[in-house]
Amino acid sequence: MALGSDGVRVTMESGLTARDRVGVQDFVLLENFTSEAAFIENLRRRFRENLIYTYIGPVLVSVNPYRDLQIYSRQHMERYRGVSFYEVPPHLFAVADTVYRALRTERRDQAVMISGESGAGKTEATKRLLQFYAETCPAPKRGGAVRDRLLQSNPVLEAFGNAKTLRNDNSSRFGKYMDVQFDFKGAPVGGHILSYLLEKSRVVHQNHGERNFHIFYQLLEGGEEETLRRLGLERNPQSYLYLVKGQCAKVSSINDKSDWKVVRKALAVIDFTEDEVEDLLSIVASVLHLGNIHFAADEESNAQVTTENQLKYLTRLLSVEGSTLREALTHRKIIAKGEELLSPLNLEQAAYARDALAKAVYSRTFSWLVGKINRSLASKDVDSPSWRSTTVLGLLDIYGFEVFQHNSFEQFCINYCNEKLQQLFIELTLKSEQEEYEAEGIAWEPVPYFNNKVICDLVEEKFKGIISILDEECLRPGEATDLTFLEKLEDTVKHHPHFLTHKLADQRTRKSLGRGEFRLLHYAGEVTYSVTGFLDKNNDLLFRNLKETMCSSKNPIMSQCFDRSELSDKKRPETVATQFKMSLLQLVEILQSKEPAYVRCIKPNDAKQPGRPLPRSPGQGAAWGGAVCIPPPLVPRYKSLCPETWPSWAGRPQDGVAVLVRHLGYKPEEYKMGRTKIFIRFPKTLFATEDALEL
Ligand code: ATP
Ligand code: MG
Repeated sequence: MALGSDGVRVTMESGLTARDRVGVQDFVLLENFTSEAAFIENLRRRFRENLIYTYIGPVLVSVNPYRDLQIYSRQHMERYRGVSFYEVPPHLFAVADTVYRALRTERRDQAVMISGESGAGKTEATKRLLQFYAETCPAPKRGGAVRDRLLQSNPVLEAFGNAKTLRNDNSSRFGKYMDVQFDFKGAPVGGHILSYLLEKSRVVHQNHGERNFHIFYQLLEGGEEETLRRLGLERNPQSYLYLVKGQCAKVSSINDKSDWKVVRKALAVIDFTEDEVEDLLSIVASVLHLGNIHFAADEESNAQVTTENQLKYLTRLLSVEGSTLREALTHRKIIAKGEELLSPLNLEQAAYARDALAKAVYSRTFSWLVGKINRSLASKDVDSPSWRSTTVLGLLDIYGFEVFQHNSFEQFCINYCNEKLQQLFIELTLKSEQEEYEAEGIAWEPVPYFNNKVICDLVEEKFKGIISILDEECLRPGEATDLTFLEKLEDTVKHHPHFLTHKLADQRTRKSLGRGEFRLLHYAGEVTYSVTGFLDKNNDLLFRNLKETMCSSKNPIMSQCFDRSELSDKKRPETVATQFKMSLLQLVEILQSKEPAYVRCIKPNDAKQPGRPLPRSPGQGAAWGGAVCIPPPLVPRYKSLCPETWPSWAGRPQDGVAVLVRHLGYKPEEYKMGRTKIFIRFPKTLFATEDALEL
């Protein structure tokens, strides 16, 4: 026995304190382990004691404490290295270490899938995992800087891709899948990031109580006087129309000024030259100036730019011709019968063109940024033999399921993405569980669960799915509207159990549904989407002359973002939803090819507050799937408890286990013997055995 650092008694044998054992550490050890109520009660009991981690078989459940629990120190990392899952309290680092060891010993690619609703703690978990690997893995012989780059890619991507929403002050507005490459010695030698559909509408509009992407506020708060002067910016975010829509430029939990410093340093670590930083900030500033471009109508109702100063800065920052930009913002170029025609825009069209340009400039810069980070993370040692034998560990951190008062195309895409990953989770866990049972020769008892494939199909099925119908409507410019899309949806999927509209609803439900809305019953709850803007956002049109103007930009980043080949491309580009769908299919393939590990994050309350009890129903459908407990080899661990196995057992290990459990008085319903493992059902059984060790 020894006293732990916090003064709690720790047994050297198990490393578990009495406090660690509040409730059960692994939910499948609970008697009624298919009951959601029992599951939540167990989480509540543990959460009250600040025990935020609990297993459900191979899945780590994490409840967001909304405060620093001091559980991610180097000491904590060491505690979890090289020990078995069941010897230490549940922790993210236990998953980190198990996955890493599997990668090293089996030499198989691994993927940690982190899921949960918005604000549940996915991004935090991803960062902790990266930190674990950066600190505990051996340093590579060459290119040790890769560890810093892996870590420092985060603040940069978060600055450009995260924003305050009503659900989360640091909400990821893009999906991220990151591969960390390890050499044969287990040292991180490189990395690669795939990003998914940035929520670019946020650049030009934010709902009340929300902000634009962090970078804008960081630059205004933290940028040096000289920088702001060069960019023609004022410190006050209120001066920029793109920053005032949500009416909350200041957020108490965010320090934009110090975050700016972090981002500036991080940019240097990921290989940005000073020139590149300047080019990048020019683009950020140009988006703000674009937002302040105003138009007035002339006698013929045609839009004219009235804000000359903004135009001047834009011309300089984007390195384009002033007259070309002016014309592109107020005219549309149409090519008819091989001839170019310029048609003037009215006020509404001009504002639309301006916003479309701002969104395109920002989102393409974001993609460029990911590419730039990838070049910096690419292993420099590609020719060495160690490169060829790298294995990768993937970390998936997407935008979580979200429901607002008003939900639009963006929420539809985000929630579809969550639906898709839930589907993969179900497939992989149930499949592996079934395989595990079969391999162990145990009769398989299926656990009832909700399979959300039916919802994925509803969204993505060819011809009949929501995306297909949306795309079809996007092919009828001039005729189709958001409402004709809704009508077509009603006609095509009217009898679907997970789909509802005002017209299809019964008397009672009808009241809660507007005429321009449809409702999806997602695995995690129902969400009502307003169809307004669906066609437009899916088409994602950028007028040709705006593209041409940007292709002529001398800003090196812009010229990489806009390519002339786009102009000559006759083929219609894929719609946003279809591109997203295809990128998700690819992601699923990537994940399927790897050994999976799961972290399921739970948000304890909607107030983003610490210290509140976990509600009895955290409102996210607990489609956990069944799971099994697979303790480590029993004989070496428990041999002292039985005279027949002590001091050593000479026979087959399986027989040793049988002797042991018989001696310990395990009842038949408490366990099942597999070929190489024993499956223990109830916590009392295992803990009684553990307790016996301490006597
Ligand atoms: P989204 O889907 O919106 O991106 P998310 O699941 O990535 O949400 P995070 O940004 O990781 O959510 O977490 C939200 C906030 O909760 C964090 O900014 C942090 O304040 C707090 N938080 C999350 N996890 C932890 C943790 N393990 N310990 C302490 N605080 C945490
Ligand atoms: Mg996040």
